[in-house]
Amino acid sequence: MSEEVFIKQYFKDIQTALYEFSKSPSCSPMYWEWLSDAAHRPLCISDANNFLLGCILDIRASSQDTWDNCAFFIEEVLSSPENVFAVIAEYTQAEWEAEFDAYGLHPERLVHMRVHLIARSIMRQYRGDGRLLWELEPTTPREVFKRLRMLGFSNTGATMVIGALKDEKYLFGPFDLVSDAAVTRVVSRIFTGTDALLSADEVIHAGRYLHQPDPWALDRPFSALSRMACRKKAECNACPLMNICVYPNEYPFSGDEILMVALGTVTHQMLLSDWLHHDVHT
Ligand code: SF4
Repeated sequence: MSEEVFIKQYFKDIQTALYEFSKSPSCSPMYWEWLSDAAHRPLCISDANNFLLGCILDIRASSQDTWDNCAFFIEEVLSSPENVFAVIAEYTQAEWEAEFDAYGLHPERLVHMRVHLIARSIMRQYRGDGRLLWELEPTTPREVFKRLRMLGFSNTGATMVIGALKDEKYLFGPFDLVSDAAVTRVVSRIFTGTDALLSADEVIHAGRYLHQPDPWALDRPFSALSRMACRKKAECNACPLMNICVYPNEYPFSGDEILMVALGTVTHQMLLSDWLHHDVHT
């Protein structure tokens, strides 16, 4: 067998293992406050905006405390307003900043202030209706992601919104892997066999190579692997890819050869501004 055939077989085995793993309970869809309960029926403005507020605050990816805090703030502090962003946008910047300790929405002042900034932008650009972020044409996940990032959502927050909307069938179509630290670590080890990190663009292309129809489908298995085994210090013995992944195993090819076969010419890291305007589906 030639090296290239070996490497293609390697990725077939990885794909099969990821597919099997994606059906395990570790990869079950998440429950999204205000969104999952409304799934399969028209979403009201208040549920959409409450959900978006949770995603702005949850920069650590699904911390239950953050969502509980958010619910407490909306229900107890603001008495469940019809439009949480309208209430927040009425504060001046200084007034909102002064409530940092009292509201305790998030330990980081920057995130507290981001809430105000995004609330005002949603009021101004989307008439206070967060649903328009994904209901206005074009309604592709990539377009919605761009809108969220332009509003000031963090990479993690915007990714979370897209993932949840796709899970709950409010948004359809393929979406690339988003190279947060956890996904990048797992993908890099599978593709290079080392701890050297791939660039954001390479992670996108790696996702397409592994699952062209919808690379995003790999986000949940990769995120789960990063939590259960592929941590900063890899615990390969606890990983379902243990017998396949090039990181703990000896193969007759190198990480560089894998990259060349799977990704072709090594790509460059793009700046966010380039990436936002770059049609990555070309
Ligand atoms: S086998 Fe090890 S390096 Fe490979 S994905 Fe699993 S934990 Fe990460």
